Amino acid sequence: MTHLSGKVAVVTGAARGIGAATARRLAEDGATVAVVDLDEAQTKGTVDAILGAGGSAIGVACDVSSEEAVIAAADQIRSEAGSIDVLVNNAGLLRDNLVFKMSLADWDTVMGVHLRGSFLWAREAQKTMVANRWGKIVNLSSTSALGNRGQTNYSAAKAGLQGFTKALAIELGPFNINVNAVAPGFIETEMTRATAARTGVDFEEMKKRGEQAIPLRRVGRPEDIAGVVSALCSEDTSYVSGQVIYVAGGPKA
Ligand code: NAP
Repeated sequence: MTHLSGKVAVVTGAARGIGAATARRLAEDGATVAVVDLDEAQTKGTVDAILGAGGSAIGVACDVSSEEAVIAAADQIRSEAGSIDVLVNNAGLLRDNLVFKMSLADWDTVMGVHLRGSFLWAREAQKTMVANRWGKIVNLSSTSALGNRGQTNYSAAKAGLQGFTKALAIELGPFNINVNAVAPGFIETEMTRATAARTGVDFEEMKKRGEQAIPLRRVGRPEDIAGVVSALCSEDTSYVSGQVIYVAGGPKA
């Protein structure tokens, strides 16, 4: 499919995991992809994979929680690639703890990356989207938005992103910009591996337990999310906006 030919896509947190798979998929769809992560060296693997497959990509360093860094990165992408047409707010991290042990720093860090980062990137991305009367924004929420022990910060941020998605869809709809959220369940990435390590659970054991609770009886792959993001950036879904699509191997919410 090449439904994004001539378009420029920004994927944050695209050095690995869901972001890397999404960046590769949007490049296959024809987009020039700005692979954004904390430092440029980290983006090389994804950029090289895209270039090696005949696609187009640039690596861009940016801490999404910094206003200054997001503005500079967006300026760089607009000047090197000409526009920002697709934005995938994917950068994320965990600072899990029970509420009585959670530090203010751990609360603020999670809010800063997921909520502030998505706001800052959307504010930049909408500039050329509004001017061109065309845009697609996809925000990464999570099944944790429904509540998860040890994740008051992360659950609040991921639920917050759902409200953010709906408000942004209302504001940007008149400019032919679709805004949706994808809410993954258990996806096999460094993030879920790190959770297993932190809680002292063997990862294969954690996956086995997870699979029992998932109707499709398997945990997800980054490509399962990338495919849905790609679909939400296609004209086939051009009348879908302000929605939260749970991609969790079964029903949620
Ligand atoms: P991951 O493997 O940990 O990758 C996240 C990427 O984001 C990393 O490359 C990380 O860089 C980067 N990042 C973190 N903070 C950043 C910042 N301030 N600025 C720029 N980049 C930053 O995670 P993932 O599992 O692919 O998750 C991707 C998204 O999906 C996240 O929003 C996550 O919350 C969401 N999600 C994941 C799952 C799951 O089961 N995996 C489920 C639901 C939702 P560093 O390597 O330098 O930290």
